[in-house]
Amino acid sequence: MAIEQSDESRTGSPPVAQPGGPLDPEERRAALDQIASEVRVCTRCRLWETRTNAVPGEGHADTEVIFVGEGPGQNEDVQGRPFVGAAGTFLTELVRSVGWRREEVFITNVVKCRPPGNRDPEPDEMSACAPYLKRQLAVLDPALVVTLGRFSLQTFMPGARIGAVHGTVRPAEPTAGAAHAHAYAMYHPAAAFRQQALRETLQVDMTGIPAALEAARRARPSEPAPEHTAPGPAARVLTAADHMTRTPEPLENPVPAIAEMNDDQLILFR
Ligand code: URA
Ligand code: SF4
Repeated sequence: MAIEQSDESRTGSPPVAQPGGPLDPEERRAALDQIASEVRVCTRCRLWETRTNAVPGEGHADTEVIFVGEGPGQNEDVQGRPFVGAAGTFLTELVRSVGWRREEVFITNVVKCRPPGNRDPEPDEMSACAPYLKRQLAVLDPALVVTLGRFSLQTFMPGARIGAVHGTVRPAEPTAGAAHAHAYAMYHPAAAFRQQALRETLQVDMTGIPAALEAARRARPSEPAPEHTAPGPAARVLTAADHMTRTPEPLENPVPAIAEMNDDQLILFR
């Protein structure tokens, strides 16, 4: 997929810069499609009985950033796509606000089928569904996992409280499946509809994501940072091929590696 990007609001390097790894882009796409086709016919937990469509998730196979929500709502269940209702419109706006596009990231959920009436997913449903998210993470090998809401937060930062950790980044819980990723905590976009003040909190927290990505890239083991463009408007149209081949440029304001940060510095991105 060619990603054309000349957006004035681009605030960091694009999130599509996988430097390589065991799978090439076609193999990654094929592996994600394979997982999606298994999810669509899955009957591993009771949620299959009430779903219209399973919602495997969607996005760029070469992305470094995955957004993980809770579970499909009514619109998602009808369309078979993640975050396509009101919360999805807001999430798409948030992604655009840092000059990224929805198509440049990957978006999925902790459970892939809608809990009836949008009730909370049950623990046994989350564990039944976890292997799919783990496999998606293994294929994508993201640098940054953005958690949306408390079930995603508990998956990648067990024990954390959203009020304390939103807008911050730390190494992702290894058992969640993203071995070399950092996790960035956000409120669920739908929370903004229940509590107006959280709309701005979400907007502010979103602005921290490009820097969190830069930091997460630097903290990845034994991998040269794929590329670094200075923060600021992109001066030219970028293509997906550019993302793979551009030589690294030094950051104007280098972010310290997360591994070298202390607890106080970890709230740098608040
Ligand atoms: N809420 C979620 O958590 N996920 C979706 O896909 C849509 C709404
Ligand atoms: Fe399968 Fe997950 Fe859907 Fe349950 S929620 S039926 S485990 S895909």
